[in-house]
Amino acid sequence: MHSVRPDQGPLAFASIVSTGPNQPPPFEGRNLYLTDPALQGAVAREGGGWAHDRLAAWGATLGRAETFALAARANRFAPELRTHDRFGARIDEVAYDPSWHELMVLATREGEHCAPWLEPRAGAQVARAAAYLLHAEVENGTQCPLTMTYAAVPVLQRYASLLPALAGPWLPRVLARDYDPRSLPVGEKTSALIGMGMTERQGGSDVRANATAAAPADDGSYRLTGHKWFFSAPMCDAHLVLAQAPGGLSCFFLPRLMPDGAKNEVRIQRLKDKLGNRSNASSEVEFDGAAAWLLGDEGRGVAVIIEMVQHTRLDCAIGSAGLIRGAVAQALHHARHRRAFGRTLAEQPLMQNVLADLVLEAEAATALALRLARSFEADSSSAEAALSRLATPAIKYWICKRATATVAEAAEVLGGNGYVEECPLPRMLREAPLNSIWEGSANVICLDVLRAARREPAAIDALKAELALARGADARFDRHATALCESLHRADFDERDARRVAGAIATALAASLLLRHAPAPLAGAYCASRLGETGAAFGTLPREIDCTAIPAHRA
Ligand SMILES: Cc1cc2nc3c(=O)[nH]c(=O)nc-3n(C[C@H](O)[C@H](O)[C@H](O)COP(=O)(O)OP(=O)(O)OC[C@H]3O[C@@H](n4cnc5c(N)ncnc54)[C@H](O)[C@@H]3O)c2cc1C
Repeated sequence: MHSVRPDQGPLAFASIVSTGPNQPPPFEGRNLYLTDPALQGAVAREGGGWAHDRLAAWGATLGRAETFALAARANRFAPELRTHDRFGARIDEVAYDPSWHELMVLATREGEHCAPWLEPRAGAQVARAAAYLLHAEVENGTQCPLTMTYAAVPVLQRYASLLPALAGPWLPRVLARDYDPRSLPVGEKTSALIGMGMTERQGGSDVRANATAAAPADDGSYRLTGHKWFFSAPMCDAHLVLAQAPGGLSCFFLPRLMPDGAKNEVRIQRLKDKLGNRSNASSEVEFDGAAAWLLGDEGRGVAVIIEMVQHTRLDCAIGSAGLIRGAVAQALHHARHRRAFGRTLAEQPLMQNVLADLVLEAEAATALALRLARSFEADSSSAEAALSRLATPAIKYWICKRATATVAEAAEVLGGNGYVEECPLPRMLREAPLNSIWEGSANVICLDVLRAARREPAAIDALKAELALARGADARFDRHATALCESLHRADFDERDARRVAGAIATALAASLLLRHAPAPLAGAYCASRLGETGAAFGTLPREIDCTAIPAHRA
């Protein structure tokens, strides 16, 4: 039997009584925003400081034990496909656990899917990014339809507004904050969600290989025949899909129900049995003459949908930053309460190295995600837009790729507890690889970085200007930034270098942010461990780094 030591104090005693000997008190019951100074600092400097009170309220809601319980439940009781009703009629519905709907109510009320479009003030994207990041610390499946809806809005505003049949009923409902999961024609609903269908069996990255055919109909719409191999959140009220029209690959608006309430000809074949992201339904569908409306011109499908893709890439980066922060916060909490060999884990020198390294990753990811969100603001300059073109794929690649390793390492801090399903870490670990796969898998998105670097000199100039803000603060950073900018100007890389280039851009941007805004030990440690030739594993920070100083700054 372990006994309570006098130096553990009343709080430690209370937690031991309620959780068993040497088990940490519950992580839940904390304000996820107010316990994260890195996020608060990033929100303030990127222009979203006015949202502080709202984010604090959202952080409190998300941090409640009840919200964590909803997240666990939504993933334990996965959605089920209902293809037919009891009379044998095709219905193609997905039944979700009530916990899914409760989480959706919370997130839509917060405006994760619409706030910057509904209230487009300076800092609106940043404030929304912070809300989304906090959500990602608790549950991720619900973020799929929220992201797709958010990302579809610019496309709908630009193109659907030209189609009277779409503009009137749809946009106000997409921008509404009261979640309405009912299967009704959009005109009878209070709000609507939008999904995206690009990937087919024969190819996801290379969408030009799409085989779904779109035939013009007499009423100005089209009839789609074919399939989609991944079609997430099929209960969304409409999807933007790609299909081959007579003039080439085109983007279409595909409602689930027709205005008279009849089901559109979209058959859900089955739901994917996924590694993670289990609260969210991802389906395979077939289109059997489904009615759809052309957005933009025939043959311009990729150009039309790319705006949606860019915004979903932003969310992948923010979501993975949230996963990283969530996992690291749980690791810190555990290590500070769990004792081994006569002292807490957080007091053991080797664990201090691991924790410090994890904190570096979380700080960098948060800073990068919020900086990237600023480049999406409505009032961004042309230089910001150019930076965004290069930084979005680079940062998406880097944060999403780092998430899996970071969450795995954070889970190990909890020892065996981190491997047991009652703890959120196993779910987070299964979730972590996903953002790296969709919306441009790592290789594909890194090739996009090279494309942007080759074709858009303004993007390189914007990157140089951003990095110049931290010049002189650290010699390692100066060397890294100089070598990177020279190599981008020379464009002396080939496809095999794409990951290295994308990673170098992301780490340069992260170091530049940390050198200017983070505590000095943290920024220095980042430069020492992430720039140049560095070890691949966590817990390999160089000896001269003060590993106690880095976590000490953070909750
Ligand atoms: C849970 C989940 C939900 C999804 N939901 C949706 C959805 O709602 N809508 C939708 O449209 N899609 C969705 N997707 C599909 C996703 O976007 C694709 O899986 C992704 O784009 C990759 O396409 P693919 O699976 O066909 O792989 P492929 O395109 O076959 O690629 C396989 C691998 O090869 C790499 N690769 C490809 N080309 C190159 C190259 N030129 N050089 C080097 N490497 C290369 C890729 O990076 C990848 O690692 C979902 C996927 C998952 C896992």
